[in-house]
Amino acid sequence: MGTRLVVVGGVAGGASAAAKAKRENPELEVVVYEKSGWVSFGACGLPYVLSGEIPSLEALVARTPEAFRKGGVLVYPRHEVVDVDYALRTLTVYSHGEGRTFQERFDHLVLATGARPVIPPVPGVEQEGVYTLRSMEDGAALLEALKGAKRAAILGAGYIGLEVAEAFRKRGLEVTLLEAQDRPLPQWDPEVSALVREELSRHGVEVWTGVRALALRGAGRVEAVETTEGVVPADLVLLAVGVRPNTALAQAMGVALGPTGAIATDERMRTNLEGVYAAGDVAESRHLLLGRPYWLPLGDVANKHGRTAGAVIAGKEARFAGVVGTAVFKVFGLGVATTGLSLERALSEGFRAKKVFIRAEDSAHYWPEHAPLWVELVYEEGTGRLLGGAVVGRGQAVKRIDVLAALLHQKGTVEDLMGLDLAYAPPFSPVWDPLLIAAQQAR
Ligand code: FAD
Ligand code: NAD
Repeated sequence: MGTRLVVVGGVAGGASAAAKAKRENPELEVVVYEKSGWVSFGACGLPYVLSGEIPSLEALVARTPEAFRKGGVLVYPRHEVVDVDYALRTLTVYSHGEGRTFQERFDHLVLATGARPVIPPVPGVEQEGVYTLRSMEDGAALLEALKGAKRAAILGAGYIGLEVAEAFRKRGLEVTLLEAQDRPLPQWDPEVSALVREELSRHGVEVWTGVRALALRGAGRVEAVETTEGVVPADLVLLAVGVRPNTALAQAMGVALGPTGAIATDERMRTNLEGVYAAGDVAESRHLLLGRPYWLPLGDVANKHGRTAGAVIAGKEARFAGVVGTAVFKVFGLGVATTGLSLERALSEGFRAKKVFIRAEDSAHYWPEHAPLWVELVYEEGTGRLLGGAVVGRGQAVKRIDVLAALLHQKGTVEDLMGLDLAYAPPFSPVWDPLLIAAQQAR
């Protein structure tokens, strides 16, 4: 009997762990069980399938089960791991296709069970016409629903709410975003939210903020959302109010959770149980600015977690460096990128923080397609240490955020930013890059 790695969950974290482990140690037997019908896909592309910009769900698949099999990894979709006996190193698997349960042994185990959408406790959420967006099955159901829908209400103006609002508008629906906090994208500072709000209204999305859903009206099929501010008629409701890690299996087998409620891991993605690893949205990372465990349920993080776990299991030296909290998304023509701490967050964490927020241009003023680019820098008073930042603008210009993210990893200051030799040519930047202009103002 060879050494066997079993991976639970086959999307970003799980697929990365399995592929990396097998590549690094071809002697390992690697088996992946995935509850849903799909493995190794980019959930991040789902909004663009809904908008019609990506032609099919299939286009999001990175590697099919057949491709895995050719690489020596056995992947079983529609197989749910329902129990793990850590002492015996066995797990119980339920095959949804065959309707039967069987036992499997493992030497190494990767828990990559991901996260699930939060369902708000609002009467009427169980009706037809109410959706979440997480899995490919969710994507397929929403694609079907879009065919007949005219009016959509979206609960939550976070990442999914904003991306899908754009997709629904592109499909010709009337869209109302209902956000509990006082602004869309409440995760970041108000200036950025204001730009997002403008972009939404420019594209005909109605935004209600500081609003709570009281009930979803309808007699089995949703017809309207009753809120604290009035009634929003809707034949389609998307719940996009956040996600929580799927930790039930881990907890039942004795895997310890961290302070965030996700699985506690070290930099090799090991849990408290020897031979058991966690990767992706179910696992914590270490936040390099806050110096403590942090939950950052993002696709790039999940891939890095999985790759690290796979390499370690294969006997290689690998560590996950931690996160500074970098994210980017697009809403209509506006890219929004953030990293580190917003001013609000930095202050609430006890930093003596300040910020500058500037408007510049993304290319030379005489370049035909030049457009505004906004930069926010959050930094520590006195030391000038960079704590966070945001870049908002058109297209790839917002990827400048990666400069700030790199500086955060290096514990850089505003002064360090000012001294950077950044690229310049008229189609790409003004002669003073907007990041440098912001740094000058922050001095
Ligand atoms: P998941 O994708 O949740 O996969 C876990 C899998 O485990 C699930 O398929 C589940 O069925 C399976 N599973 C759970 N329990 C069991 C069990 N007991 N047995 C067997 N299988 C089980 N991130 C970004 O960085 N950038 C983006 O632009 C971005 N856009 C996104 C857009 C959307 C619409 C969504 C939904 C997410 C987006 N994300 C984005 C987040 C990103 O998709 C997730 O961080 C990533 O999918 C996490 O991967 P994962 O493998 O950890 O978890
Ligand atoms: P989110 O945490 O980004 O946003 C949830 C929003 O819902 C917040 O603005 C919150 O204030 C609001 N909210 C909470 N309860 C509410 C209620 N009862 N009524 C109205 N509003 C309420 O979560 P999400 O949009 O569901 O996305 C889930 C995860 O998917 C994100 O955490 C992110 O990790 C990932 N994602 C990332 C990207 C990206 O990086 N481009 C895109 C999509 C999704």
